[in-house]
Amino acid sequence: MHKSDRLLRASAVCALVAALWFTVNLIHPVGPRVLLWVPTAVSAAFLVAGFVRTVRTPSLLPATRRFWRHLTAAAVVIGIGVSSQAFDVLAEEAPHGPQTGPVMLVGAGLGVLIIMYALFRLPLGRQSPGELLRVVLDAGTLMLAAAVFLWHFSTRSALHNGDDTGIFLSLLVTIIALLAVFAVAKFVLSSHSHVDNEALRLLAVAMFVGAVAPMFRPWFEAVDPHLFPDMVSTPFIYYLALLAAARQRTAPGGKRRGVVPAQQRSFSVLPYAAVAAVDGLLLSVTWSDGADEMVVVGSAVLLTALVVLRQLTAFRDNSRLLARLDHSATHDGLTQLPNRVLFHSRLEKALATPGDRPVAVALIDLDDFKEVNDTLGHEVGDQLLVGVAKRLEACVRAEDTVARLGGDEFVVVLDDADPAAADLAAERMMNALRQPVYADGHELPIRASIGIADGRSGDKPSVLLRHADIAMYAAKNLHGTACLHFDPSMSVSGSDLGTELRDAIANDQLFLLYQPIVSLDDGHIMGAEALVRWAHPVRGTLAPDAFIPVAERTGLIVPLGHWVMRTSFAQLAEWNAVHGDAAPQVLNVNISARDLREPGFAEHVAALLTEFAIAPERVVLEITETMALEPGPSVVNLLRLRKMGVRVSLDDFGTGHSTLTLLHDCPIDEIKLDRSFTQSQVDDRPPVSAAVIHLAQALGLHAVAEGVETADQAEQLLSLGYIAAQGYHFARPMPPARLSELLAAKQSLMPSTAETVATA
Ligand code: C2E
Ligand code: CA
Ligand code: CA
Repeated sequence: MHKSDRLLRASAVCALVAALWFTVNLIHPVGPRVLLWVPTAVSAAFLVAGFVRTVRTPSLLPATRRFWRHLTAAAVVIGIGVSSQAFDVLAEEAPHGPQTGPVMLVGAGLGVLIIMYALFRLPLGRQSPGELLRVVLDAGTLMLAAAVFLWHFSTRSALHNGDDTGIFLSLLVTIIALLAVFAVAKFVLSSHSHVDNEALRLLAVAMFVGAVAPMFRPWFEAVDPHLFPDMVSTPFIYYLALLAAARQRTAPGGKRRGVVPAQQRSFSVLPYAAVAAVDGLLLSVTWSDGADEMVVVGSAVLLTALVVLRQLTAFRDNSRLLARLDHSATHDGLTQLPNRVLFHSRLEKALATPGDRPVAVALIDLDDFKEVNDTLGHEVGDQLLVGVAKRLEACVRAEDTVARLGGDEFVVVLDDADPAAADLAAERMMNALRQPVYADGHELPIRASIGIADGRSGDKPSVLLRHADIAMYAAKNLHGTACLHFDPSMSVSGSDLGTELRDAIANDQLFLLYQPIVSLDDGHIMGAEALVRWAHPVRGTLAPDAFIPVAERTGLIVPLGHWVMRTSFAQLAEWNAVHGDAAPQVLNVNISARDLREPGFAEHVAALLTEFAIAPERVVLEITETMALEPGPSVVNLLRLRKMGVRVSLDDFGTGHSTLTLLHDCPIDEIKLDRSFTQSQVDDRPPVSAAVIHLAQALGLHAVAEGVETADQAEQLLSLGYIAAQGYHFARPMPPARLSELLAAKQSLMPSTAETVATA
């Protein structure tokens, strides 16, 4: 830290001395000419030292270090070019023109090529072809603007002078400068996460100065042929680059932290600035009646056209994205049925229709779905769900809504249906479900339980749904496919599992597994998600799906949530004590909508954080339910938690529990891309995962991809710009002792990297 401060200061002094000495010589030549080049040589050495230090910073991601290694090579090559130019100039009795020799040309050209290569190798977060087109259009706009300036100030005069090599050299320099502008522009305009934004901005300015400075040569040449703008600009450029390298070392984004903030695209104004600059030039040329009026006018028109074209593609892309997100926000991705959100609004509408009309809600739950999923695999399970969805849809009238609430739960809104009509509909559904579904060569018998709540206009949707739920659970206790209407006597009897769960929480039958959240870049453990299990004395280890719904219905979710938080916080404190910096940087804990509605929930979290001496930033609370965002205690709790510094994550993002409006209105920090999107096959359309990372970056949210099962998925996510992921490909949920071992071994969880490291 101190050393690099000294380097920076020395380089700044060099640049200042260069400027002063140059000014003095501009007024009156003093001292030997070689002195004018000394600052350039000295600051080149500082630059290389600074770059090497950044390359060697262990806390930076490998891709970031590779980028700076390439830049170091570019700096060396350009340095050689500049030195050769200096020697040429010093040897010459009366230098004239830009004095660009072949070594300088090759050096600068090669340097620019290396920089372009470095930028090219960085993982870019790129989305649609439209996105890419826009980046190219923007970069093209900047390049064209730079070309107009170079033409106006330098190339034109070389052409007029009629000196052949002069023209040739000037054109070459122009092309190199343009390539540089294009490369930097293209990069800064794309979304990226591996190089610090501020550092990049400094590098862009440095390259811009490098491209523009030589144009001032004719002015200085007129005063003294031995004066070159490079004498001042080069130490200044080196200083900027050094500053960028130092900035990268201390940048929070590049460090191995739990959360890397998404970078905003702050350079989008560049194309407009380019247009404005050329318009300014146009005015000044018109004013002075310059000879190249036509060239400048033509370019200004072309530039405007480019910017308009870019805007048009942006509009088109945005409206497409919005339409897709809108559909996926209201529909279930698997069955294409309306989801919970659309179901709620349809039910509300039916209940709000004027006149006293009956409205029935039928809740359908498959009885052995989990077994199918576990024994025959998710794919077969998915096909079963799609088959059931189709049959249910065929049983209802056009004005009824069949929706999927999630998992194997479906719901039907029967508008204007009295109990008898609802019974008829239920009968049709049970008949339809009696035929087995054929999936992947398997014949799958379906057993379903249907609960019906009979309501009237003016009833509350949530009450109706709860009644249907209670009736459905009562139906589950009957043998085979069955249907029951809600009856108030049902609500008092708690289910057996509920009573057992109460004891389980008290008697320590619950335990937690932890699934690592890893960096896609190198597989190091960034954090861990706590996942609850129940060691049931008779039924063996139960997954949360088997008891969380019961806990939610019975209210036991609140003490269960408290237990999970206390236990996982204690675990994090232990990891901190044992592993120090190598402990997981963040702990993700699932909380239910019900938890969040409890008044005083935020205070409870605060008390636990204090008790275990855990920094609030290290805890991420995962929420799923839309209900969590009903105005009232939930939002108050969320706001308090975030104010404390605790982070909030939207789980299962994209499955319809979360909508665009919710993202907009609800204070959150992170989204977890649902595993259905992580695992979806790549077709010719840009994947939803691309749209989601785009959205996350636009909103400044951290994104974690869930359910990564293959190296291909991991690779694709990385190339889309995802930084963090979770899934069986890296690690399954594991007992804390096992995670401790991995932490102690400081092991990368990247299966392929582990191999390449071993063989390298
Ligand atoms: P979730 O929050 O989406 O958790 C991720 C689930 O995906 C976990 O299932 C995990 O084991 C599984 N998973 C992880 N990687 C992969 C993969 O590569 N492929 C596949 N197919 N699955 C993967 P689990 O542990 O059964 O948890 C299920 C759900 O139960 C969780 O979904 C969460 O919503 C809920 N849950 C778990 N623990 C708690 C808790 O302590 N409190 C509350 N309220 N809910 C919990
Ligand atoms: Ca979760
Ligand atoms: Ca999830």
